[in-house]
Amino acid sequence: MSQVNILANDGLHEDGILLLNEAGYQVVTDRINQEDLVNELPAYDVILVRSATKVRKDLIDACPNLKIIGRGGVGLDNIDVEYARSKGIEVYNTPAASSKSVAELVFGHLFSLSRSLHLANREMPQQGESQFKALKKRYSKGRELRGKTLGIIGFGRIGREVAKIGIGMGMEVIAVDPFIDKSTIQLDFAGFPDFHFTVDIETVTLERMLKKADYISLHIPKLDKPVISEREIDMMKDDVILVNASRGGMINEDLLLKSLEEGKIGGIGLDVFEGEPVPKLALLNHPNISVSPHIGASTSEAQANIGRELAEKIIQYFGN
Ligand code: NAD
Repeated sequence: MSQVNILANDGLHEDGILLLNEAGYQVVTDRINQEDLVNELPAYDVILVRSATKVRKDLIDACPNLKIIGRGGVGLDNIDVEYARSKGIEVYNTPAASSKSVAELVFGHLFSLSRSLHLANREMPQQGESQFKALKKRYSKGRELRGKTLGIIGFGRIGREVAKIGIGMGMEVIAVDPFIDKSTIQLDFAGFPDFHFTVDIETVTLERMLKKADYISLHIPKLDKPVISEREIDMMKDDVILVNASRGGMINEDLLLKSLEEGKIGGIGLDVFEGEPVPKLALLNHPNISVSPHIGASTSEAQANIGRELAEKIIQYFGN
């Protein structure tokens, strides 16, 4: 086998690098600027990217020896996938590797908003020493998740992981997905390897869920228009808490701000934004919005899964 050269232009977890090195492949993780790739990438057989590096038609044309484009993560918007495949190039992504991490981040936002942790964390460093009692009073209107209804829009990989945590938390879970009628969820319990609990969840209409849910989380692919607009917000319970860790723009952001001001929506957790990487300041500054900079998949566990999954696919392609 001739030397396989791999450029991991947006980085690769050390577990992935180790597997590839053990298989005798060369992995370069020094980042090459987008404009220089057209000259540098022809020396490689494989390019691995996350979301930063773009692999467009012109770059593909410049690299006739390129055999694999690997995307660590789900979305393939930064790659001209059909064109690459038409040239015989394999395009791999790792859609399942980060589902659990995204689901845990969703609950980070839900807990934060339910207990105003995002605000307390901003204000305690400045005022905690002198205004402890006033802050205690301000943040004493928390709510529990247990016993509440969690609506999930999009019952794919991440939606189902969110459901598992919700059920474990004692929440009633209702899911909306026009392409899935029913899904069986299996809950495992650490420390009890022989004990599993399965539950069938039948999806319901969006309208039915909106009227019932106390918390709503979005887990849909990028669609042409928002799934949550005026009509849907009108149908929601007052003081509902939303989370969007799917794609920016799937909830109309201007409408979100308006609904927060009017008190219809109680709080929002946002990991994704329209116009990333420049989100609206009004969202970032809003006291009822808990924000994170698109870090749903950014755990060491997810990155290790991604690294291993890509490495295994590459090794399978070239043979060992
Ligand atoms: P998935 O394909 O497994 O699931 C998406 C589900 O949405 C599918 O079951 C599909 O049938 C359903 N769906 C499509 N249109 C719908 C609609 N109009 N209403 C309700 N459901 C609809 O995808 P996934 O792996 O669960 O990822 C979900 C989203 O999370 C994607 O947009 C992905 O890009 C995003 N994501 C975000 C992060 C992050 O860092 N925040 C990380 C990974 C993935």
